[in-house]
Amino acid sequence: MTIPFNDLSRAAAEQHESLNAIAAEVLASGWFVHGPQHKAFEQELADYLGVNRVLGTASGTDALEIAFRAVATPTRRTIITAANAGGYSTCAALAAGLTVRLCDIDPDTHTLSPESLRGLVDDSVAAVVVTHLYGRMGDVDGARQVCAPLGIAVIEDCAQSLGARDGDRMGGSIGDLATFSFYPTKNLGALGDGGAIATTHAALDDRVAALRQYGWSTKYTMSIQGGRNSRLDELQAAFLRHRLPLLDAGNHRRRAIISRYAASAPDSIHVLPASDQRHTGHLAVVVTESAPLLAAHLREHGVSTEIHYPIPDYAQPFWESAPPSLPTTESFRGRILSLPCFPELTVSEVDAVCSALASFEGAPS
Ligand SMILES: *Cc1c(COP(=O)(O)O)cnc(C)c1O
Repeated sequence: MTIPFNDLSRAAAEQHESLNAIAAEVLASGWFVHGPQHKAFEQELADYLGVNRVLGTASGTDALEIAFRAVATPTRRTIITAANAGGYSTCAALAAGLTVRLCDIDPDTHTLSPESLRGLVDDSVAAVVVTHLYGRMGDVDGARQVCAPLGIAVIEDCAQSLGARDGDRMGGSIGDLATFSFYPTKNLGALGDGGAIATTHAALDDRVAALRQYGWSTKYTMSIQGGRNSRLDELQAAFLRHRLPLLDAGNHRRRAIISRYAASAPDSIHVLPASDQRHTGHLAVVVTESAPLLAAHLREHGVSTEIHYPIPDYAQPFWESAPPSLPTTESFRGRILSLPCFPELTVSEVDAVCSALASFEGAPS
């Protein structure tokens, strides 16, 4: 038996009939972008999150880029982000013509450390991105405390964390703006690309809405520069409307899988916990002395793994300036591994991953 890292065909097969009916309905409607499905999805997601407004975009990276453009000013041209989060914020900031400053992470949560942030902020900073990495909510309140006195926006990157909540506060409703991706492997996945931006106060609504569509304030009136064309299409919006009500159950199942892994892993493997609703269980990440050894052991037992993410931003070939000193980020290089984790994993597949974990003996001493 080979256990796949992910298998998107399983959910698609389960939902085959409804997805086909939805596609037929959209085709018959004659609306293909910014029609009734898109409008309804924006409202349904805003209600789910308890935010002021949601605006659809073509991808999560577009959502980040547009959010950065919305808060940048002629004097605030810097974005601060963590270096271990796949480089999406960095990519989007550079695409918007902004500068990136990298912040270290908290060793327990692997999300941006407000303590490290304190030494990095000044009035050239437009925004700080808190990436809710692996699905775990980062410390948005801590980042806000550092940012608010300087007028710096806090943006939550919720690409991996849609559905996470801290009591009655949903992830994505705490910062100034939040961004989402509906890339097929995300917890709320489309059958193609998609993204969204949530605003928590009305002041940014019109700016974000204009920036995602040519800088228009009204049709054909380009009121601001820096506009883009980034739209979530009707088909994807309709599929996402079907899947949004299933999200919480899927996240629950993901957390249960991660708890099983945590209960089976020997002491030499630390499974990052996903035990409460502040975590969506997007990725089952473990920390161990040697990730390559563990990956090889799991491969022998038919278990597929990946690494999220293998190369910090400052070590990427495109990074031009001297790498900053980020000791905590650096300390996890080569020590993290992601295990299969998606709601449609079968009980016997989860059992097989658990016994493969349990039989790992670590590095020969
Ligand atoms: C997937 C992802 C993105 C990018 O989303 P796309 O829709 O692929 O552009 C951004 N940030 C994080 C943390 C992600 O996981």
